[in-house]
Amino acid sequence: MEKKTLLLILVLLAGLANISAQQIIAHRGYWKTEGSAQNSIEALMQADAIKAYGSEVDIWLSSDGIPVVNHDAEVTLNGNKLIVQDTPFETLKQIKLANGESLPTVEKYLDAFAKCNHTKLIIEFKTHNLKEREDELARKVIDMVNERGLQKKVEYISFGINLVQQVKKLAPQASVYYLNGDITPQILSKMGLTGLDYHYNVLLKRPEWVKEAHDLGLKVNTWTVNSPEVIQQMIDLKVDFITTDEPLLVRETIQKQ
Ligand code: MG
Repeated sequence: MEKKTLLLILVLLAGLANISAQQIIAHRGYWKTEGSAQNSIEALMQADAIKAYGSEVDIWLSSDGIPVVNHDAEVTLNGNKLIVQDTPFETLKQIKLANGESLPTVEKYLDAFAKCNHTKLIIEFKTHNLKEREDELARKVIDMVNERGLQKKVEYISFGINLVQQVKKLAPQASVYYLNGDITPQILSKMGLTGLDYHYNVLLKRPEWVKEAHDLGLKVNTWTVNSPEVIQQMIDLKVDFITTDEPLLVRETIQKQ
């Protein structure tokens, strides 16, 4: 075989290997960096800087209808615990993240995200007390994404069955994944979802779900995979995405395969 042909084949094979390799999603952004914090705008920028496939973020609706970024259902302000969905934005905006940033609105977060060149934004809709509030949050956020022309750069995830269905209805072209681990790939496929995004223990218990999902044309994401042992287990299971607090460790492990 000619040297040139051999080289071409090697390049093609490397390309194929790359396609099948796992993509990395930075859980709450890439926050284990100097000057960063979970779900901060800085963590989003850091995820973009390392060219992660995605940067995940958690969102809620304030009591007066402003979509805000936060993981927990509660926040602490001046020693008082406040429930995010029961608190007006006027109060929530006083909260500082560990890196000094103010608790961001989704609007501000999307404006920052619009400047990212590499990473996608994986938006997790938190479940709320009322279906109406979940629907309001989904509608407002999808409108914000559309207004900025970011449709192709954003994907959605949720533990809430109502939320994934609402998002699918409002943004039929969007990638939407279900997080709660209790629905089979067959049913997710019938619901028209993009795939499953399950805790790694669910996939270790039901490894056949990965192949079943793939056979149905679904994608498989898993969270939150941080230890070298589990990173390897998820690579061996051939999941499509790994959501992690350790994006560089996951990348290094994938590259060693
Ligand atoms: Mg999350």
